[in-house]
Amino acid sequence: MEPSPKIDFNDTEIAFSGKSNKELKWEHWLFKVMNNPVMTNILTTLASWTLNLHLPFKWAIKGTVYQQFCGGETLKETIPVLNKLEQFHIGAIIDYGVEGKESEAEFERTKNELIHIIQFASGKKNIPFISSKVTGVTSFALLEKLNAKATLTAEEEKEKTKLYARMDQIAAAAAQNHIGLFIDAEESWIQDAVDDLTFELMRKYNQQKAVVFATPQMYRHDRLAFSKRALEDAKQHNYILGLKPVRGAYMDKERKRAEEMNYPSPIQPDKNATDRDYDAVILFCLENMDRIAVCAATHNEKSSLLLASEMQKRNIPANHPHFYFSQLYGMSDQITYNLAKAGFNVTKYLPYGPVKDVIPYLIRRAQENKSVSGQMSRELNLIDKEIKRRGL
Ligand SMILES: Cc1cc2nc3c(=O)[nH]c(=O)nc-3n(C[C@H](O)[C@H](O)[C@H](O)COP(=O)(O)OP(=O)(O)OC[C@H]3O[C@@H](n4cnc5c(N)ncnc54)[C@H](O)[C@@H]3O)c2cc1C
Repeated sequence: MEPSPKIDFNDTEIAFSGKSNKELKWEHWLFKVMNNPVMTNILTTLASWTLNLHLPFKWAIKGTVYQQFCGGETLKETIPVLNKLEQFHIGAIIDYGVEGKESEAEFERTKNELIHIIQFASGKKNIPFISSKVTGVTSFALLEKLNAKATLTAEEEKEKTKLYARMDQIAAAAAQNHIGLFIDAEESWIQDAVDDLTFELMRKYNQQKAVVFATPQMYRHDRLAFSKRALEDAKQHNYILGLKPVRGAYMDKERKRAEEMNYPSPIQPDKNATDRDYDAVILFCLENMDRIAVCAATHNEKSSLLLASEMQKRNIPANHPHFYFSQLYGMSDQITYNLAKAGFNVTKYLPYGPVKDVIPYLIRRAQENKSVSGQMSRELNLIDKEIKRRGL
């Protein structure tokens, strides 16, 4: 048997093999700007004004953060990005980045767009999954009521029926076209409603293989127990559980709401606890790999290495269909490219959509990354190292 390839996330030659010298220098400039909290605040303020006051800063956003983190304004515009990723054996999770819509017509449009993406993906080699947000196909207010198990009005009952029908159509299209469907996790005060729907879809569509994937946010202290309950549900209803563990993107909002409304925060006491549970859920998936398909959606090198090295230790083939890794497009190429080179199933989460519609996503990325000790400085250090290696 061939020895397992050694995985080294510090190998910047592989990490940036997809970038020309010019692209590398541009990325260096952008990450330097984003590494500066003052500049990040200016960019996020401009973005919020564009969103709320319809001011014309589209050009500034499109030429900078949008280009870094998004595939294009239309599906067609993403094709060159997809082709480039494919050259390096990297897949994509296509995400229709439009959020926060509130009308029936918009929910229908989002559903139709998601089905359109599934059909588009089925004709491409490197799109194993698409991602969806339940808030894209129904109102936040309905999800809050469902979550609270409140009595629904006749009108809300109709809305709920429509929501379930829309998600069912999307999952049916995914199953038919052999594309996986990720259902993103959002705020904790709507998450039970999202999970109830996800379980219903998994019971129906995951009988042969994992089509629908639930998302446990491991920054919540109850998600390891949730993942264990999910496995029991899969055993009881005889389906393959799809899990896409993330750490979670709404931490500040969660803590603030809990404090304001005076209830115990659902968030872990500290980062170590989040990391501990993230790694624990990865091991749990490995131990139950006959019944769980997992996509480790993380930029954390330690967690990514844990999964890759455990797979090697257990002689699980790197391209086993129950194991995927994923990073957001524009971030952590050192993980993506090095894992892909070693033969693992790796994907980039690639949002697309009109600039103004993906602004909330871009603001989350900027805020997630602005801390000096955070991800951006790691990205910047690696780019610096590669610039030096290339003698630029
Ligand atoms: C493919 C993909 C899909 C995603 N889908 C979703 C989704 O559906 N829902 C969602 O919410 N997010 C989603 N995300 C975003 C994800 O939650 C963030 O990218 C992630 O939180 C960043 O963490 P990390 O695992 O990359 O690693 P790290 O950089 O190691 O961790 C940072 C994270 O740790 C947690 N953390 C930081 N400080 C503390 C603290 N003091 N106490 C407790 N926890 C702390 C926070 O979650 C923070 O974001 C997705 C990401 C990817 C790559």
